[in-house]
Amino acid sequence: METSSVSPQPLGSAAMKAPEEESDGGGGKESMDGDAASRNPYAGLVNHLRTSWLSRKTWPMQYRVAQLEALGRFLEEKEEEILEATTLDMGKPHFETQLSEIFVCRSELNHTLNNLSTWMKDEHVEKNWAMQLDSAFIRKDPYGVVLIIGPWNYPINLLLVPLIGAIAAGNCVVVKPSEVSKNAERLMAETLPKYLDKDCFAVVTAGVEGTTRLLENKFDYIFYTGSPSVGRVVMTAAAKHLTPVTLELGGKNPCYVSDSCDVRNVARRVAWGRFFNAGQTCVAPDYVLCSLETREQLLPALREAIAEFYGPNPQESSSFARIIGDGQFQRVRALLSSGRVAMGGQTDAGTRYIAPTVLVDVQQDDPVMKEEIFGPILPILTVKSVDDAIAFINARERPLAIYVFSSCKQVVNQVLERTSSGGFCGNDTLMHFTLTSLPFGGIGQSGLGHYHGRFTFDTFSHLRATVLRGNGREALNKPRYPPYEPRHLPLLRSATQQRRHRSCALL
Ligand code: NAD
Repeated sequence: METSSVSPQPLGSAAMKAPEEESDGGGGKESMDGDAASRNPYAGLVNHLRTSWLSRKTWPMQYRVAQLEALGRFLEEKEEEILEATTLDMGKPHFETQLSEIFVCRSELNHTLNNLSTWMKDEHVEKNWAMQLDSAFIRKDPYGVVLIIGPWNYPINLLLVPLIGAIAAGNCVVVKPSEVSKNAERLMAETLPKYLDKDCFAVVTAGVEGTTRLLENKFDYIFYTGSPSVGRVVMTAAAKHLTPVTLELGGKNPCYVSDSCDVRNVARRVAWGRFFNAGQTCVAPDYVLCSLETREQLLPALREAIAEFYGPNPQESSSFARIIGDGQFQRVRALLSSGRVAMGGQTDAGTRYIAPTVLVDVQQDDPVMKEEIFGPILPILTVKSVDDAIAFINARERPLAIYVFSSCKQVVNQVLERTSSGGFCGNDTLMHFTLTSLPFGGIGQSGLGHYHGRFTFDTFSHLRATVLRGNGREALNKPRYPPYEPRHLPLLRSATQQRRHRSCALL
């Protein structure tokens, strides 16, 4: 049995053993009945957080700022531990952890602290004629008790960035790190609660069994990052309580390389995006589409880029990570049998090393094209033209990102305009992820909803439509009351209806 543990009451109390895998008899019910709720090992924790939320402790801005600043201290004081944990879990180079975990969280935190007072303000909106004397605005209310479930590949970033927005928006939060990145999970469970208010924020450690039980509870929002298959499980659990969700999922991100580009620059930018974190990145370019002629130029350029980045033997490089676990290692290694290895292909099960690898002569129905690779393998498939590349992309699920390389702006624009994806980056890879000003998320199979910066705050805020009217001036309301008089309709129409703007022929 898995050894999931929870802190069922205010954090800091003794950790609890994993729940027994017993049926609560509530399958198919809309919510847990009293008996099932009392047997759910996380019900006490969720109730405790809900009581805190109802006390409105998390609502004042000063409280939110204090918690966010405490999170900043966690990042500062635990930096060494974070670097160590991610290296132990997946041999992640410290440089990559700094860049993709620590810098990203700090940037999100600073951006949030810089803008929180503005984001929290009521937003006054346009009014129709009938409401000119009233006040109409959007109030940003916290949802309540929210659950954040993270994956293992960026175990700090993908938990803390949503957590920052959830705190900023005034929620109480349960965070559930991935059990796969064991060292990062332990660090989060043991140290994060020391920085945050235990009455309002909790870390739950759980595997599949425990997370299933956790999801039986009613949350007010669920933010999930992980695979599309588990995304469905989470959404199904959320549906039982009509809980809104954000699903940050994965998939296969195409990268089209046109005939007109500087192949050496392309090779470096593609290799960096593909082999960063040993390919275990949701927005990594998953495969390249290009013409046969471009492929022949790209191959030596990729070889050069890989040698430049990782030296003659990437296994000895301190800049190259390892696969997270044995199961993932076996899965990724099996994908090497697709097509022909043009470079790389070496593996070492003992250290879960898979060399930066490029595959050619790959067929569309080869295993490597049937699933998200999530490892350091880059297949190159040939297409005849940009139209073929677009048709190839559009025949598949909509990806989290599409990349296009071309020195011709029209080619980049053509792909942008004729495809659909969560995000898009022309002439580079991954970089769109780094801007807090851009919404980050998928579409269709690659996800639902988006976050980063202001979008994270909005994700965790309920936009409450608010109108405040005066008590008097009843004569103005009279035309809308029964008994209805048709002669009042024209007046009501002009008082309430939006007019279509006419375009001026002179302008
Ligand atoms: P995963 O779906 O296996 O696990 C994610 C989380 O879900 C973990 O915390 C895990 O404990 C939990 N979980 C797993 N099975 C569960 C179940 N049956 N019921 C309830 N909870 C369950 O994903 P992963 O392997 O950790 O991450 C890899 C995937 O995540 C890839 O598909 C990748 O593309 C995607 N991803 C997406 C983003 C994004 O921002 N869109 C970022 C990183 C990773």
